[in-house]
Amino acid sequence: MANLPISQYEEKIVETVDKNPVVVLIGETGSGKSTQLSQMLRRRGYTKSGVIGVTQPRRVAAVSVARRVAYELGVQLGEEVGYAIRFEDRTSENTRIKYLTDGVLLRESLSNPELNQYSVIILDEAHERSLNTDILLGLMKRLIKIRSSNLKVLVTSATLDGDKVSKFFSDCPILTIPGKLYPVEILYSKERPSNYVESATKTALDIHVKEPEGDILIFATGQDDIEKLVSNLEDKVRAFEEGSCMDAIILPLHGSLPPELQVRVFSPPPPNCRRIIVATNIAETSLTVDGVVYVIDSGYVKQRQYNPSTGMYSLDIVQISKVQANQRAGRAGRTRPGTCYRLYPSRVYHDEFLDVTVPEIQRSSLAGSVLYLKSLNLPDIDILKFDFLDPPSFESLQDALKQLYLIDAIDEDGAITSIGQKMAELPLEPSLSRTLMEANNYGCISQALTVAAMLSAETTLLSVQSSKTEKKRKHNMSNLPDGSGLGDHIQLLQIYECWDQTDYDIGWCKDNNLKVRGMLFVKDVRKQLAQIMQKISKVPLDVQANGTVEEFHRGYRNLRKALCVGYANQLAERKLHHNGYRTLGFKSQVVQVHPSSVLRQDELGKFPDYVVYHELIATPRPCMRNVCAVEMR
Ligand code: ADP
Repeated sequence: MANLPISQYEEKIVETVDKNPVVVLIGETGSGKSTQLSQMLRRRGYTKSGVIGVTQPRRVAAVSVARRVAYELGVQLGEEVGYAIRFEDRTSENTRIKYLTDGVLLRESLSNPELNQYSVIILDEAHERSLNTDILLGLMKRLIKIRSSNLKVLVTSATLDGDKVSKFFSDCPILTIPGKLYPVEILYSKERPSNYVESATKTALDIHVKEPEGDILIFATGQDDIEKLVSNLEDKVRAFEEGSCMDAIILPLHGSLPPELQVRVFSPPPPNCRRIIVATNIAETSLTVDGVVYVIDSGYVKQRQYNPSTGMYSLDIVQISKVQANQRAGRAGRTRPGTCYRLYPSRVYHDEFLDVTVPEIQRSSLAGSVLYLKSLNLPDIDILKFDFLDPPSFESLQDALKQLYLIDAIDEDGAITSIGQKMAELPLEPSLSRTLMEANNYGCISQALTVAAMLSAETTLLSVQSSKTEKKRKHNMSNLPDGSGLGDHIQLLQIYECWDQTDYDIGWCKDNNLKVRGMLFVKDVRKQLAQIMQKISKVPLDVQANGTVEEFHRGYRNLRKALCVGYANQLAERKLHHNGYRTLGFKSQVVQVHPSSVLRQDELGKFPDYVVYHELIATPRPCMRNVCAVEMR
């Protein structure tokens, strides 16, 4: 693709890479960093001495960019060009350009700490500041000292403060690809609308009716709002299409869309047809949609945040940062001058938006990452002093260490235990990997594998239409097993067992409003987890899925015992005088059972005395989501 901005700089880029172990490359979104850099370095011969690995913080981007590069090189995906994301590996021994999520690269470094198979590692989209990319930055700094003669590291970003990264890597060179953005006119709303979905619908229709050709890109917060917008727009656009204005196609774009629907945004529209793309922040920098002239920016993003002082997650709709707002506006100026309609007043932008987005490392639970770093057994790495670009708070590191101690993953000196070492091999949260280790001792590994796989894929299980509200969710699951009064983990297990008994019948999924793709994914994840368990436990395991009637009558006791150990920090005791529970981990607080849970009172109107929960969320009242009864007193 010779006409992308980056192409003119090929000589300069490869020369700088030849001469320096680390290079920072800053270039506007769409300049060709993700698709072209790997190809340039291939032309320069870097695939002769190893694989060029390109990390992406998002699964969708890894898949989409790998497809594109395979297409541009005229090779079959999975051969010379491939991708690897958690639970899905499309690479072969012939793969020389490998797109992978940052999490997968971290995992690879467990079995090969020096990442010897790679000649080049490109940490792409570093501006997203994902937790895993931040950790990789620290590890690369170390690796480059060990492999300085035969490893090249590139850090690329659309917006990142290049000087900061360059300093982090001992003042490495920074290359800047000048952007070719056309001017974008910014129009602000007078007030924040009370309902941005309605306001975005109206703005999009106005543009469609009054403005010249050019695609519209709307930034919404999540799948539910996207579905609402798509359906609103479909109704309204049809009403206008009585001959007067051009056609429109409305395309959703978000991370849980099946790949075949995602790629639709890359095909140009038919003549005289306007595309209205309704996207999450995935279209901010991860995926570049060409042809956009009008951007409608809600000013919001959905963000998962962890509070280490309460151990609680919240999924909040928060205001975007100035950097994000500018990226969104920039999407309108790629092909010609464009317009960005900000659905908020300029004073909100100036006075309320943060300058930059808070890095994920400062709003995540670090238990998994700390376990992973410990499992590398690097003599020179002290977690509390690990070289982070922006360090997490001392409190969240301590929180992670305490959690790991409670589930026997580290000892009182903070050293990783043999259990912890094995847990780190499983691509799961520490509570689930600990449950699997324990289930092995209790002879219920088959059931625990199913629960872990179901929980890993939970968001992709329910059919699109039925995911909208929790109430509807319960309704749609009413024909399915109900967890025998024991809660959500048991229900997830029973659903899978029912499906297993139909010999994985696709019609059964459809009849029960379960997404076929989601269930097939669970089956595959379960198989992969079983393989890892076989490897780390070194004894043959009975991992067949079907449970026995006898286990059912025993109330899945062994499984619940294993869950108790894995979730030792996620236990709660019922409070007699309150309509709720008190958590028993190292942080005690009053919480309730989430309304989506199938856990119910028994015939005596009593909830179980003790439960474990998968996570605590602020909704806004603190709730336990995915709850399972454990032994009664
Ligand atoms: P950057 O990484 O600098 O944001 P990319 O390399 O992702 O830029 O994009 C360069 C160009 O390639 C853009 O015009 C984009 O639309 C196009 N592109 C990227 N992925 C695909 C794909 N899967 N199919 C078609 N076009 C793509």
